[in-house]
Amino acid sequence: MPNEAPAAASADVDYAGLLQEEQASLQAQLKELGFGNQGDTGLSYDSNFADSSQVTAERGEAERLATELRDSLDEVDAALERLSAGTYGTCEACGNPIVAARLEAMPAARFCIADAAKQ
Ligand SMILES: [Zn+2]
Repeated sequence: MPNEAPAAASADVDYAGLLQEEQASLQAQLKELGFGNQGDTGLSYDSNFADSSQVTAERGEAERLATELRDSLDEVDAALERLSAGTYGTCEACGNPIVAARLEAMPAARFCIADAAKQ
């Protein structure tokens, strides 16, 4: 690839809006799973549920999913912080701008494509 990356964050794109949308969607999914409160450890299930192994398996699945959702939420929060700090759209590994197409597809991206592939 020639080193002619287009300018990073495109002025035409409302990254804050995209991030807030994603944030709201992740929070809604967590709520649906019963992990609505941020900072909650997620172990708020009624202990009566623990009788059935099927329920235990489902709970494990829900917790795994909730962990993924929380990780994504952390990424989105971090991206919003970078946005307000003015460092949004810069690769955290190499410091080069992240191409606009990547940010549009993945507004919470913290690495350029090359560095993301190395992670
Ligand atoms: Zn990079």
